[in-house]
Amino acid sequence: MRTLFSGGTLVGPEGTLQADLLVDGERIAAIGRDLPRGDVRVIDAAGRYLLPGGIDVHTHLDMPLDDIASTDDFRTGHVAAAFGGTTSHIDFVIQSKDGSLRQALDAWHALAQGKACIDYGFHMTIADPRPDVLDEIAHLPEWGITTVKVLMAYKGRLQLDDAQLLAVMRRAAEHGLLTMVHCENGDVIDVLEREAVAAGHREPKYHAMARPPELEGEATGRAIAIASVAGAPLYVVHLTCEAALDQVRAAQRRGRHVWAETCIQYLFFTAADLDRPDFEGAKVVCSPPFRTPQDQAALWEGLRDGALAVVSTDHCPFNFAREKQRGRHDFTKIPNGVPAIEDRLLMLHHAGVNGGRIPLSRFVELTATNPARLFGLYPRKGILEVGSDGDIVLWDPRARRTITAGTHHMRVDYNLFEGTTVTGAPAGVWVRGTQVVDGERFTGRAGAGQFLRRAAFTS
Ligand SMILES: [Zn+2]
Repeated sequence: MRTLFSGGTLVGPEGTLQADLLVDGERIAAIGRDLPRGDVRVIDAAGRYLLPGGIDVHTHLDMPLDDIASTDDFRTGHVAAAFGGTTSHIDFVIQSKDGSLRQALDAWHALAQGKACIDYGFHMTIADPRPDVLDEIAHLPEWGITTVKVLMAYKGRLQLDDAQLLAVMRRAAEHGLLTMVHCENGDVIDVLEREAVAAGHREPKYHAMARPPELEGEATGRAIAIASVAGAPLYVVHLTCEAALDQVRAAQRRGRHVWAETCIQYLFFTAADLDRPDFEGAKVVCSPPFRTPQDQAALWEGLRDGALAVVSTDHCPFNFAREKQRGRHDFTKIPNGVPAIEDRLLMLHHAGVNGGRIPLSRFVELTATNPARLFGLYPRKGILEVGSDGDIVLWDPRARRTITAGTHHMRVDYNLFEGTTVTGAPAGVWVRGTQVVDGERFTGRAGAGQFLRRAAFTS
């Protein structure tokens, strides 16, 4: 099938180009002025933008947590992502203690099997770096996985100590993998949480108070130091605050191979939101927690000047009426996570581009091009070029949309941005040349999404 996008404005990291774009089969076949029509479906793109499909490199679909799971699976999460202009994502496989990496990977492939509607890749979270598990890291590239993730928080569950971080980072670097780190000081958080609960401080707001920004800043600096000693490139996930950003900037000035993402929600909420009445604060409980207006300003500055390379979501939805209620009498039992996979582009375009904080080219770079570059998908994904996949968002910069749980496609009973009216939204979305969203209609198919085997990391 051939589709000609006629007269649109192509947007890339270097700027915009007025041109026609032809997709033949799954790939972009031609870009130019007045391309011949012939036997093609013509999409009138006049007055609209053509964006490379968004790539969300931080998601948790159907993620097991004790006896529950995050509420979007690989079908509902993919449908929601597509409506928001995201055509690829990378989810976190999580090794279980005393399980192997291969077992975990097989389990996640099974989760996606027959459900995927957009393309997806996996990162490997290492929770128990025993010697045999460290040896398994060598096999990850042949399994299509070129990133490992380790956590410095969640003591007793996923947290690694510094010696384990060093061991994983060394192996990862040896095999061309990028190491991603959740940077918070889990030991100190563990003490603060226990103290809070013992003192009867059980409301959601204490979640943020037990995880102060100093502990994210400290852990970020420590991760950078250990990565430097290990000779490993480092990607800091969900950076939320100035204290951590200062560490990233200082490392980048010293020429270190350090990159960082923030997530869309950290630009819009503060710790004060955790103190909403009637337990509503539980809706915004995630880790690291929301910070201050000053931290938000620092994040926008980082997005502008390049200290932050990516905007992702950490999408990990739980229903307010159900799963979140587990923590009604103890904030430490609130499942951590927020729904955002559908709203990332809408909100960043609205507040960032319309708000005059970042140019359109930077919006594309943060949501598609840099994710592709850093995670072994470029130039197959993340850019509109001849030979790239036909992952295309037909973006109407004048469309107005009110974001609400009543109409969103995420399988969760609330929306973080409830009631926000944005200007600019996808009018149509294509994955490898097949249209999956047409206005309000989903036209994709469960099972059509493909696993993305990613290339080794190169800086
Ligand atoms: Zn996460």
